[in-house]
Amino acid sequence: MGIIRLLPEHIANQIAAGEVVQRPASVVKELLENAVDAGAKHIKLIVKDGGKSLIQVIDDGIGMDETDARMSFERHATSKIKSSEDLFRIKTKGFRGEALASIAAVAHVEMKTRPHDRELGTLIKIEGGEFKLQEAIQTAPGTSVAVKNLFFNVPARRKFLKSPQVEMRHIIDEFQRVALAYPELEFTLIHNGNELYRLFPSNLLRRITSVFGNKMEERLLPLNEETEYIKIYGYTGKPEFAKLKRGEQFFFVNKRFIKSPYLHSAVMKAYEGLLREKRIPPYFIYFEIEPEHIDINIHPTKTEIKFDDEYTVYNILRASTRRALGQFNQMPSLDFDTMPELNFDKPVKSSGIRREPKINVDPAFNPFKTGTDKPFVSKPAFEKPSRKAIENFSEFMQAPKNDFFPAKEEKISAEIFSKEEIKGDIESMQWLDKYILTHTRTGIIMINQHRAHVSILFEEYYKNLSAGKIPSQQLMFPLIPDLLDSEIELIEKNKTLFERTGLSGENEGGTFRFTAIPAGLKESQVLDFVENLIASLSEDLPIDRDDMNRFLALKLAMASAVRNGQKLNSDERQNLIAQLFSLPEPELTPSGKRNFIILSENQIEKLF
Ligand code: ADP
Ligand code: MG
Repeated sequence: MGIIRLLPEHIANQIAAGEVVQRPASVVKELLENAVDAGAKHIKLIVKDGGKSLIQVIDDGIGMDETDARMSFERHATSKIKSSEDLFRIKTKGFRGEALASIAAVAHVEMKTRPHDRELGTLIKIEGGEFKLQEAIQTAPGTSVAVKNLFFNVPARRKFLKSPQVEMRHIIDEFQRVALAYPELEFTLIHNGNELYRLFPSNLLRRITSVFGNKMEERLLPLNEETEYIKIYGYTGKPEFAKLKRGEQFFFVNKRFIKSPYLHSAVMKAYEGLLREKRIPPYFIYFEIEPEHIDINIHPTKTEIKFDDEYTVYNILRASTRRALGQFNQMPSLDFDTMPELNFDKPVKSSGIRREPKINVDPAFNPFKTGTDKPFVSKPAFEKPSRKAIENFSEFMQAPKNDFFPAKEEKISAEIFSKEEIKGDIESMQWLDKYILTHTRTGIIMINQHRAHVSILFEEYYKNLSAGKIPSQQLMFPLIPDLLDSEIELIEKNKTLFERTGLSGENEGGTFRFTAIPAGLKESQVLDFVENLIASLSEDLPIDRDDMNRFLALKLAMASAVRNGQKLNSDERQNLIAQLFSLPEPELTPSGKRNFIILSENQIEKLF
C-alpha cells in the first residue's frame, strides 16, 4: 500500500531537536561544553532577552577548517568518537554529535570559526536546518556560534518559553555549572549588554566566591577524601549557613555537573542533628572516578549518573562530609561511637589554618521554642473569637459534609453542640504539641494546628493584600539578614513586591537592612519569610495580581503560623478552633491540604 513514508529530514531533525533543545539554557549548555571541549581558555557567553533573540558563545579553542565547520552540523557528526573503544572511554561526556544539528534545526545559526594555523576562517549560516551560506572570512582564531530566534519554526515551543527573566535564570544556572566545573578557564557572561559575570582563571575556592560572592568563603569547609575507587574533594557549608532554599548545592562527576537525590541524602545524613528544620547547606562536591565505574545516561540533557557501587560512594561521601564538619569543630555533640564506618586514623588538622569563627551548635536547639525573640509586634497569636465564630463552628459541624473526611459514606448529621454547649468552652486537648483534639456528638476531630493556623492567617493577609498592602511595623533597630550579593540584587529588583508585604529597607554598601517588617511577624519569622520569598523569586512567579496576592499571603501565613511542636494553652486552642470554623472553607489549607479529620462513632466502633 505504501503508506509508510520516511519523514522529511528537516522534520526528523526538528523532532530530534526537541530532545536536546528544551529551552535557551539547553543551547547554552551545549555551546559552552563544545567550547570547553575545543580547549578554549577564554569563553564568552552573550545573551539577549533571556536567550529568546540571541545566544552566542565565543571561544579561543582549536577552531575548525571549512570541511569540519560544515560537518559539525551533520547529525551524528562528532570529532570526539572515532572508534567504539572511544565510545566507551568518553561516554562520561555523552557525546552524540547531535547538539549543533539539533540547535540548527530550530533556530538561525551563524558560525564563524578558524583554526589557529589558518589565515582565513569560515562563516556558515543555517536557518531551520537549511544551509544558507558558507564563505571564507576574516575572523579571530577559535569559534563563535550565534543562535538567533530560537524555535522560530516551532511556534508551539516558542510560546512555551517563559519570561526572559525565568529563561535567564536557567541560563545562569547552566553557566554557573560549567564555570564551577572549570575554574582554570575564564568565563564571561553578558546579558542585554550588561556584564553579569567575569570569572578569571583561578582555584576552586576563588571560583566559588566569584560566582556566589565573597561571603561564601567563610561559610565553607574543605572536604577531601581519596580512596582507590573514588576521589572526592570540594567544599561543604557550615551548618549555621544552611538555607531554606535550594540552589547552592553542586555535585560534579569528572567535571560534569550532575543531580543526585541519593548523594544529596548522603550529605544531609552527615549533617543530621546540626541543621534547623528544612535547611539545606551549600556544597560544592567534586568526584573523580574511572569512567568504567560510571554510567551516564546518554540522553543529552540528562544530568543523572549511576555508579557501579553506589553504596560505597554514599558511605564515603557521608563519612568525608562528616569528617569535614568534625575537623572544624562543627560537631561538639557528635557521638562518634555511633558511626563505626568512620575512619579517624587520619591526622586531624589543627584549625589554625583558617580564621575560625566561633560556632556554637546547640544540641538542645529547638526551633519552636519561643521566648527568645524580641517581641517586635505585640499582636497575640490568636485573637479572642467572637461568639459568632463559636456558633459557626457548631453550624459547620452540623452541615452535611462528606468529601474531605475518611467517613465518606456517612453524613455528619447529628446535632453536634447543643446551644448550651456553645456558650461554654469547646473542650480540647493538644496531642504531641501538634494536633488539637476535640469532640462532638458525631465524632472526634483532629486538627493539624500548623495548617489550621496557616489557613486562618492566610485569609487575613489575603484580605490586606487585596486592599493594598500589609501594614508595616517600623523597627527601632534595623534587621540585617545574612544575604548573598545575588540575593540583595533580587530584593532590589523586586522592591515593590517586598514593600507590598510590609517589608522595607535599603542596601548600604552590600549590606541589606530592613527598617520595617510586616505587622504580625516576629523577627525570626521575618528571616524565614525573606529567605522563602527570595527562594521563590527565582522560580516562576504568578503574573496575575490576585494569584500574586494569594502567593504572598500564603508565604506570610506559613512564616507566621504556629509551628508543630508549639504548646498551645486552652484559650489558644479554643480560639484556633473557633477561627478555623469561621473560615469559608475550613476543611482545606489554601494549598489544598487537609486541616482536620473526623473520626465518626461508626468508624471507631468498627475498629473494636
Ligand atoms: P559533540 O559535541 O557531541 O561532538 P556537537 O554537535 O556538539 O557534538 O558538535 C559536533 C562537532 O563539532 C564536535 O565534535 C566538534 O568537532 C565540532 N565543534 C563544535 N563546537 C566546536 C567549537 N566551539 N570549537 C571547535 N569545534 C567544535
Ligand atoms: Mg557538543
